[in-house]
Formats: sequence, structure tokens, C-alpha cells
Amino acid sequence: MKRSPASFRKLIDKKFSLLVRERDGWTCVLCGESYRPVLSAGHLFSRGADSTRFDPLNVFCQCGACNGYHEINPHIFTLWFIRQFSLEAYEALNVKHRTLAHYKAPDLVEILGAIEERKSPYSIVAVWYKPDPFITRLVRAGERLKREEAALEIRKHGLESRLSHIKNSASVV
Ligand SMILES: [Zn+2]
Repeated sequence: MKRSPASFRKLIDKKFSLLVRERDGWTCVLCGESYRPVLSAGHLFSRGADSTRFDPLNVFCQCGACNGYHEINPHIFTLWFIRQFSLEAYEALNVKHRTLAHYKAPDLVEILGAIEERKSPYSIVAVWYKPDPFITRLVRAGERLKREEAALEIRKHGLESRLSHIKNSASVV
């Protein structure tokens, strides 16, 4: 079966997300949440850019609330990253993110293969990015409610678009 680049991206997203969650010990790097059903892979710089979409240094295990809240306030995740790595690493990632890249089918095949075989830069399952107590305290102190509101808002939006999809397909019949 021949895959379109879009369906390839989705497949890679899925496998990459699993790799990231495994790498990070199934724990949200920001708040320490470890309830698996709410964990996903959160991008520091948005998934929209191919240049950093599958970069393991741009994606970390996050709970739904922290992931949703990042859309509204990227400050906490940014701080976590800089404390975990360095300001230089953050700036390098930022530059990479802003560099235009558009993966074509052969690139995507290569990335998928590297993820499946845990080849560099995906041979990092032994690394385990832990929550940073300073950041976790920050999250718990003042941000929990806002994060939960953001997660609810996102879930509501998802339900609404699913509902309108159902309505649309019903009106076609
Ligand atoms: Zn979290």
C-alpha cells in the first residue's frame, strides 16, 4: 500500500509519541503525573514545523493538562527546558524550528525506520527526563486550575468538532 506523506506523518507521530513516553518513564516532565491514559508527547516548539516535529529534543512526555496549557502559556515548559539543558540548547532548537523544512516521502520513510529501529537520534530510550522539582512546585502552586480549564476547553472543542462532523455526515444521507 502506498502511503501519502500526510498519513506517514500521522504514523510517525504515533510511534514517536510512544518512544518519547517510554523514554521519559511515563511521567509528565512538568507536573510528575504518571497516569498513563492522560499522557502524550508534548512539543516545545509547535508540531507544525517539520524541522523540529520529530526531534527528540523538542518533544517530552506530558499530561493532557500541561500539554493544553502550553498553548496558552509556554513559559513553564520553556523554563523546564532551559533548566534541563541550557539557554544555548534552547536557542539552537529555536533556530532549528525556524529553519524551513518539508519532509518528502523518502525522508519520512527514513525517519520511520530510525524510530522503529531506535537508531540515532532515536536511540535514547535509556535517557529519562525527569520532572524538575522547582518546575513541579511552580505548576502545583498556581497553575493547576488554569491547566485543567485549558484541558477541558480543548476536550470541549474536540467534542464540538466531532459533533459537527456527525451532523454534517447525517445531513448528507
Ligand atoms: Zn503535567
